[in-house]
Amino acid sequence: MAAVCLLRTRSLFRQFVPGLPAAMQRQYSLDISSQLLRTQGYVDGRWVSAASVFPVLDPATGQELARVADCGPAEAKQAVDAAYKAFYSWKQFTAKERSYLLRKWFDLLTLHKEDLAKLITFECGKPMKESLGEIAYSASFIEWFAEEARRTYGDIVPSAAKDRKVLLLKQPVGVASIITPWNFPSAMITRKVGAALAAGCTVVVKPAEDTPLSALALAELASQAGIPPGVFNVVPCSREKTPEVGKVLCTDDLVAKVSFTGSTATGKILLKHAADTVKKVSMELGGHAPFIVFDSADVDMAVAGAMASKFRNSGQTCVCSNRFLVQSGIHDRFMEKLGRAMDAELRLGHGSEPGTTQGPLINSRAADKVVSQVSDAVSRGAKVLRGGKRLHGSFMEPTLLAGVTTDMLCTREETFGPLLPVIRFDSEAEALAIANASHVGLAGYFYSQDISQIWRVAEALEVGMVGVNEGLLSTCEASFGGVKQSGLGREGSKYGIEEYLDVKYMCFGGLKP
Ligand code: NAD
Repeated sequence: MAAVCLLRTRSLFRQFVPGLPAAMQRQYSLDISSQLLRTQGYVDGRWVSAASVFPVLDPATGQELARVADCGPAEAKQAVDAAYKAFYSWKQFTAKERSYLLRKWFDLLTLHKEDLAKLITFECGKPMKESLGEIAYSASFIEWFAEEARRTYGDIVPSAAKDRKVLLLKQPVGVASIITPWNFPSAMITRKVGAALAAGCTVVVKPAEDTPLSALALAELASQAGIPPGVFNVVPCSREKTPEVGKVLCTDDLVAKVSFTGSTATGKILLKHAADTVKKVSMELGGHAPFIVFDSADVDMAVAGAMASKFRNSGQTCVCSNRFLVQSGIHDRFMEKLGRAMDAELRLGHGSEPGTTQGPLINSRAADKVVSQVSDAVSRGAKVLRGGKRLHGSFMEPTLLAGVTTDMLCTREETFGPLLPVIRFDSEAEALAIANASHVGLAGYFYSQDISQIWRVAEALEVGMVGVNEGLLSTCEASFGGVKQSGLGREGSKYGIEEYLDVKYMCFGGLKP
């Protein structure tokens, strides 16, 4: 079956091979409303150019989609200043007024969902169905925080003194710098910005260099929604300019808060930057999710969960299962059914082709990492049951490895690609020890029909989010975030807005009893 899968992908990839005659190349064009294809920075309600531009590429074909303003420290500083100025008026809007504008922004995202999804597919490589799912997810945070804006209640606390009242007020922290990754080019922005704007903060967004177009389209729609100038600013920049721009955003005195989503390594750099001026920080960092299948599991449910959890966005999500632990009694049945599901359900291609379920990885470095993990595992005795090879460009075959052991690279570092390594285990204690032997703890999943085991394992897993008999868990109503080096703080849910609020204690004294 693996050979069939390979043949199918080869015939698709012929269309991408550079150097083939034009007639043999299939063209994929990004056909969206021109008002949503923005290429300048967005600062203080205006579209701004920079001294140079950088290219944005379609990762499936390597073709250039656009050239975007390469903002530097000067533009970043202008954006911070604009956000600071706007903060003093935005925080005076009533919660209901902010909620109304956010709701209008949500409506526009929903109205333009097809075009916004195409942008994601072309700049990030995601299949269209997933891109549409991301836009729904992205919009849900604006809607959710439009609702939460009106519920930032404080407290009136019973006082120990008869002549005093004790009040706790929630107030916006100020300007927030928002730095986001490419794997969810829209939703990783709205999950932060929805909360920030609802709380009364203003923001400067630095999107990932691979995917700035989705961020700029969000700015266009924020402007159309009537969100005032300076409240939402976007400074796109190239990989080369990123460290200097990041430094401004994390060290400027006018910035009160840094919210970052990306790798743990980058998060540590930004934490150090933010320390000098003691900024409030939120960090959504890398994961290394275990996916445990116990003997009592419903094997079909476990296979469906594994497929969903591993292969979404070609394995490039922070909550993707990375280490599969399967108990001896169910191991062979699980492997057989999983292999068949991979043959039947996974189809590589350009994300805009109907039927594609697996797009490319974001760039060659990402594909190199998966290949090196596969070679390392094979050299240490793992068996390749499906896939294993890199194809054209940054396309990687969905890969199933059996006989994996904990000395292999793929069980020790985040993969961020379509590699599914399976470790066989005997006891619950052994599975938990392997699952928790990690310095990160974002998501974890397990399948069991034993109710006592479900409680034991859910409580024992050292992660911020647990999927019990469920492979997909993200939703705006629930808290998103990790423990250990997976980060600090929570996004979404009723807790997300708290990251952008300070609590002010007001002692109201001199009262006559
Ligand atoms: P990355 O850390 O390389 O980049 C993320 C962002 O940080 C990008 O905008 C990048 O330009 C910027 N950046 C990089 N170096 C910087 C610097 N010195 N100063 C300022 N900004 C800098 O991560 P990535 O490869 O884009 O994303 C993948 C990682 O993100 C994975 O580890 C994944 O697990 C993690 N992630 C976490 C979550 C979560 O919610 N916990 C969600 C998505 C992705």
